[in-house]
Amino acid sequence: MHRGLIVQKFGGSSVADVQRIQHVAKRVTSYRKKGYDLVVVVSALGDTTDELIELANKINPEASEREMDMLLSTGEQISVALLAMAIHKLGFEAISFTGAQVGIITDTSHTRARIIKINTDKVKEGLKRGRIVIVAGFQGVTLNQDITTLGRGGSDLTAVALAKELKADECEIYTDVEGIYTTDPRIEPKAKRIQAITYDEMLEMASLGAQVMQARSIEVAKKFDVPIHVRSSFSDNPGTMIIKEVKRMEEVVVSGVTLNKNEAKITVCNVPDRPGVAAKIFKELASRGVNVDMIVQNVSHTRQTDISFTVGKTDVQKAVKFTKKVAGNIHSGEVLVDEDIARVSVVGVGMKSHPGVAATMFNALADNKINIEMISTSEISISCIIKKKFSETAVKALHEKFGLAK
Ligand code: ADP
Ligand code: ASP
Ligand code: MG
Repeated sequence: MHRGLIVQKFGGSSVADVQRIQHVAKRVTSYRKKGYDLVVVVSALGDTTDELIELANKINPEASEREMDMLLSTGEQISVALLAMAIHKLGFEAISFTGAQVGIITDTSHTRARIIKINTDKVKEGLKRGRIVIVAGFQGVTLNQDITTLGRGGSDLTAVALAKELKADECEIYTDVEGIYTTDPRIEPKAKRIQAITYDEMLEMASLGAQVMQARSIEVAKKFDVPIHVRSSFSDNPGTMIIKEVKRMEEVVVSGVTLNKNEAKITVCNVPDRPGVAAKIFKELASRGVNVDMIVQNVSHTRQTDISFTVGKTDVQKAVKFTKKVAGNIHSGEVLVDEDIARVSVVGVGMKSHPGVAATMFNALADNKINIEMISTSEISISCIIKKKFSETAVKALHEKFGLAK
């Protein structure tokens, strides 16, 4: 009996050790028994990717990105093979492939490559032979046969892209929590599972630090309208549906709180206040591939002003180096770096039509004596940069203030 095709993705925590791999094998084969065709995407075991990065840093902190991809892609190659073996042991047919083998073709931007196309012949052939097809997440290959990776958390993207390309009936993301929560349940145990969330809200939450889904995977899901079911690999409970539209009786103003500790703040002091100066700084950073996030420039009362901005932690060294270079050229003052910061954000589509969200947020932080260093807003989110030591307090305070624990 043919019941349809499911793409299932299991994250690193779901395949962290032998027992968990065996557990995943049981889960996958239980669907096979029911008659489903299965394409299973797997991440590297536990913290393997972090460990490989650490190892590389010991050998060469400035390792080339091509070699980083060669190294990091090995993590997923281990897990696909082990899962295939575990499934064989249960008496089912399965075959594992690397990203290159299944024809996930990407551009050449190593460590954050973009998928250009997927050649699904190999997957389809496997399915036709009645096999469970297991694909290494997070990786692809360039037209030149160089191995690439898709950015941290990239197995989510592999799964969504395959679900789209294969026109799967379902795309399930299995992880170590029971879905998307109102905030990280590891920080706030009172966090509540959200039954359904829109692509836009999920994209905003993911971009602002909710690591449970990779932001780019949601972009692709939104573009091709691939509904995603995020659920726990340790239970049979329903999780969270990520979909185009959620019909709620009454609009929820704030649906989630996020935290991002992976940014640093750079300040260029005493920048001459004349046209073209900001352009010089940010043009230089852009040309070096540094992604700048929040930018704040004060109104100047003298002829000089400070410009502050945030960048991802992995880009700090590079950003400081080139900011200093431009600062010298434009005769501004010191360049300061602060890595001791965190960003807390509130996200919700209901914000568009409800005034006062910012005021409520600032009040909640003020009540806890938390100073706000920078503020930024989008149509559906407000973010504040605060000192890192206040991270957890801030998340809990905002979660409480916006009534998310109810
Ligand atoms: P996986 O190994 O399955 O890819 P990740 O570690 O990438 O798992 O993502 C799952 C983790 O994301 C959870 O353990 C949780 O702590 C964290 N997380 C952060 N924000 C949220 C949220 N809003 N909802 C659910 N989980 C979240
Ligand atoms: N193993 C990769 C990472 O840790 C990809 C993933 O987990 O999705 O980023
Ligand atoms: Mg992940």
